[in-house]
Amino acid sequence: MSDFSNRLERIYLGERPSHAEWLDLIYHAPLDDLLHWADRLRADFHPDNVATYVIDRNVNYSNVCTSVCAFCAFYRPPGHPEGYVHDYETLYRKVEEMMELGGSGILMQGGLHPDLKLEWYEELLRQFKSRYGIHLHCFSPPEILNFTRVNNLSAKEVLQRLRDAGLDSIPGGGGEILVDEIRKRRRTECMGQEWLDIMEAAHELGIPTTATMMYGMGETDDHRIEHLRMLYDLQERTHGFIAFIPWTLQPDFVPIGKVFPDRIEPEIYLRWFAASRLYLRNIRNFQVSWLTQGFDVARRALHGGANDMGSIMIEENVVSAAGAKHKADEDMLTGLIRTEGFHPVKRNAAYKRLGVLESGV
Ligand code: SF4
Repeated sequence: MSDFSNRLERIYLGERPSHAEWLDLIYHAPLDDLLHWADRLRADFHPDNVATYVIDRNVNYSNVCTSVCAFCAFYRPPGHPEGYVHDYETLYRKVEEMMELGGSGILMQGGLHPDLKLEWYEELLRQFKSRYGIHLHCFSPPEILNFTRVNNLSAKEVLQRLRDAGLDSIPGGGGEILVDEIRKRRRTECMGQEWLDIMEAAHELGIPTTATMMYGMGETDDHRIEHLRMLYDLQERTHGFIAFIPWTLQPDFVPIGKVFPDRIEPEIYLRWFAASRLYLRNIRNFQVSWLTQGFDVARRALHGGANDMGSIMIEENVVSAAGAKHKADEDMLTGLIRTEGFHPVKRNAAYKRLGVLESGV
């Protein structure tokens, strides 16, 4: 066994090396060694070799946003002629179309609207629940923070009210890189500690959330490692993160793409993916981003720490607006999972399995 593999095995067994050692391993260990030990950890969590996926719909209730994130091509400032807020009837139709395609819920997010009151969101969630009984995976921490400001309420009050109206779980959007030095440069509204505080408040209220990392926007390796540390430390306290989803900047149509026009190379994505699985050994599910990295990378990630293929994403507006081109349907995702030797099982947004394991596989 190589020296690198020995060191990775010790990490797999629970050793926590320094950040400098992590970076040495991420960039100098053979890729196959990194993938192998990440896969061993994945198999400990999921010994039945299931790889999950979800059918849901991305619903963007509004693109009006007071923020001006440099990696976003989706938002329109208040007063812009292309700004919209969908009415309830339009949103009901989107849910009904999703249900006809066998979906289990919606991932609903929007811009940071300056005027919409919390009552508007509460009533919408109540209507969704009573009409359709679907899983409601909604509102990233920057939106929750915006709700606190528009309504002059604490994060706990906002989250309690949304939970009581039907909110089931919260997406990890807006995580990007949590280090403020990079967030300020990218003109992100919600600072790293604010993002973490909202996630902590959600976890304390029993609302599960996902965690994300978006890289490729000029952050340093130290920023990335620090991001992982911040997530790891919060998870040690709350155990409320149900999944980690790393994805990469789509530079085509966003302001920051002029400064950082190169996509993250597949090998670099896979190296960080596998290392993140080993670093975040307290998070159970790891989702590979085929939307931003494509299917060849997704296949390899299934052997390097991933146990989830994410969503078929009926109507994805935000990442696609920035230049992501990949599209999939259920047959594609399940076929890919089977080809790689895993068992595909449908789940909901809280990672609860909805399907049964096929017999004979
Ligand atoms: S990423 Fe979200 S908060 Fe930032 S500009 Fe786009 S819609 Fe607004």
